[in-house]
Parts: sequence; C-alpha cells; structure tokens
Amino acid sequence: MFGGGIPGRKPGVSARAKSQFDEFDASELYCPNCRRAMPVRKRLLLILPEGDKYEYLCARCLTSVGEKLDKSRAGDVKLII
Ligand SMILES: [Zn+2]
Repeated sequence: MFGGGIPGRKPGVSARAKSQFDEFDASELYCPNCRRAMPVRKRLLLILPEGDKYEYLCARCLTSVGEKLDKSRAGDVKLII
C-alpha cells in the first residue's frame, strides 16, 4: 500500500499582461485633495454612442480624479430604439 500521491498542479498564475496596448484601467490615481495616489472608484457617468464614459473618484474623499471613455463595447453595441 502506497499513499496515493497526487501531484500538486498549480495553475499558472503568472499571467502577466503581455500586451502593451492593455486598456488603461487605473486602480490608483493621484488625488489632489489627499495629495497622494489613492485607490479610485469607477463610476459610470454617461453612455455615449462611442462608448461608456466613466469617472474616477478618490475612494477616500470622492474627489473626481479622472475620466475615461471606455470604447471596448463600441461598435458591438446595437442600439434598439
Ligand atoms: Zn482623495
């Protein structure tokens, strides 16, 4: 009798972003109010034909620290009016 040795298979976690064209997605931005880089919250501001407009708010003081137009869905979206 030999204890069944199950080889530990770890899934490759080292999936680093290879693409240099990764979409800009900030997790921290400089907040002028806190005077340092702060974690941000992403808030959907507007839905435009060319994409979704997001606003980044400082997670601490909720100052707006940036905006972004997310075009990833643009072109695929069909507006049904
Ligand atoms: Zn802040």
